[in-house]
Amino acid sequence: MTAFDADVAIVGYGPVGQLLAILLGQRGHRVEVVERWPELYPLPRAVHFDHEVGRILQSAGVAGALAGKTVPASTYEWRNAAGELLIRFGRDMARSLSGWPESSMFCQPELERILDERARALGVGVERGAEAVALELTADGAAIEARRSDGSIRRISARFVVGCDGANSFVRERIGSGWHDLGFHFDWLVVDLLPVDPRWEGPLNWQLCDPARPTTLVSGGPGRRRFEFMRLPHETLDELNDEATAWRLLAHWGLSPANAKLERHAVYTFRARWADRWRTGPALLAGDAAHQMPPFAGQGMCSGLRDAANLTWKLDLVLRGLASETLLESYMSERAQHVSAMIDLSVTLGRVICVADPEEAAARDRRMAAEARERKAPVDASLPPLGPGCLVPGSPAAGELFVQDQVRHRGVSGLFDDVVGHGFALVSPFGDPGVALDPKSAAFWASLGGFTAHVAPGAPVEDASGGYARWFAKHGVAVALVRPDFAVFGTAPALAGANALVEMLRERLRPPAPAR
Ligand SMILES: Cc1cc2nc3c(=O)[nH]c(=O)nc-3n(C[C@H](O)[C@H](O)[C@H](O)COP(=O)(O)OP(=O)(O)OC[C@H]3O[C@@H](n4cnc5c(N)ncnc54)[C@H](O)[C@@H]3O)c2cc1C
Repeated sequence: MTAFDADVAIVGYGPVGQLLAILLGQRGHRVEVVERWPELYPLPRAVHFDHEVGRILQSAGVAGALAGKTVPASTYEWRNAAGELLIRFGRDMARSLSGWPESSMFCQPELERILDERARALGVGVERGAEAVALELTADGAAIEARRSDGSIRRISARFVVGCDGANSFVRERIGSGWHDLGFHFDWLVVDLLPVDPRWEGPLNWQLCDPARPTTLVSGGPGRRRFEFMRLPHETLDELNDEATAWRLLAHWGLSPANAKLERHAVYTFRARWADRWRTGPALLAGDAAHQMPPFAGQGMCSGLRDAANLTWKLDLVLRGLASETLLESYMSERAQHVSAMIDLSVTLGRVICVADPEEAAARDRRMAAEARERKAPVDASLPPLGPGCLVPGSPAAGELFVQDQVRHRGVSGLFDDVVGHGFALVSPFGDPGVALDPKSAAFWASLGGFTAHVAPGAPVEDASGGYARWFAKHGVAVALVRPDFAVFGTAPALAGANALVEMLRERLRPPAPAR
């Protein structure tokens, strides 16, 4: 058997590579990361993450470090040039499915700093200033070569290599993956302000669909503001990407060097595309390396962090010999369907705002006002389920996100994952699913580190705010088998169905060998 330098080598140390390194490191795997840039990328890009990503970050052990570094966003409004409402995403601040605010605004470099500290504390090997320049797929693993700034080459052999190396991914190019491109390309000037005079009273989170200048105004985390201005057809990139242009456009919003400091300005081309192959043998892709989308739904990084959560438990089981490598085939089938739905949502929103033609904008306003009168939701922004994969097909809620809510257990109150645990879970409001497992299934379940929880009023896990009762009632089921990435593997109508769910999981992890 080959002695590898690492279990997993990761190319790229943006938020996706960082999270993947942490989640694998937490499970005791040897992880080596190479990152081209010698320093952390200092400029903000993502400013929003959703409740599911909050829970993923909680599972990475950084919830405490994030406290005070995020701002919950209660509304996100789309208005026309006259200031009339076109779309309103109201966020339920009191209750979300994952126990986190539905939307949190933050500063990406701060998140990356927090993730970096966590990864290093776990003993993850991180080499900055080393650019992957070669990828070799071997009989039982892979190897990368990274060139340092002094010209020396470092070779890392690993059972798996994951390209988290962003939009121009080297790994994607080496595995010969192409793009599905939806042909959505718009240039936007992105401007970050820090700080803004706290007396400034601009709109909180707005997309201003004004054809004279489509504009995004959102929080960039505590003390920060983000503005984005679309390039108009008659403008050149150079005209737009200019500090004087940024101040001229900000003046419309009452902002000037007297009450705000420009942190940076940069032009980005927003695209909508995903790679047609996310895996070749031991080499995989995650994050922007596998997909890119315009930022109007704030889902690019969120999607990459979901990739990392999905991939981690699968790589973990394969590395521990608890699942066959065929499990990895479910990574793209599950995630690509979710990602393409998020790309469609982002493009649908983009087509609302990226309109510079006044007549087209007027037609849009009439159509959307009529939809609002008919109370038709113009856009469905709910999180989609996973595509087919390691799930029980046809089982209610399979592939959907499971709930996390406040519980009380052994005298401790808090969110379920902190107080009860995180991993494979069998959860029921009707009793302990563990009693339904026969010895063989119970032993298999224990080998996965699975646990069981009876969550109800007065049960060993007290359902403190009724979130579990609501979830089970909504889906009309009695027990759920939940995966470590919080997706529901399958459900059963009675507690006794827990045993069959565990056996179905066993079969998915180790499919029977084909008959010879
Ligand atoms: C203006 C803007 C606004 C956005 N807003 C949001 C938002 O609100 N919410 C959201 O979820 N997303 C948002 N996004 C998207 C989000 O920023 C990206 O999806 C996210 O940064 C992708 O993370 P990543 O780790 O996959 O890639 P990156 O952050 O691009 O990291 C890739 C890393 O790989 C390194 N690398 C590349 N090639 C090599 C190599 N050969 N060897 C070694 N290292 C290499 C790079 O140096 C880089 O550090 C926004 C993006 C933009 C531009």
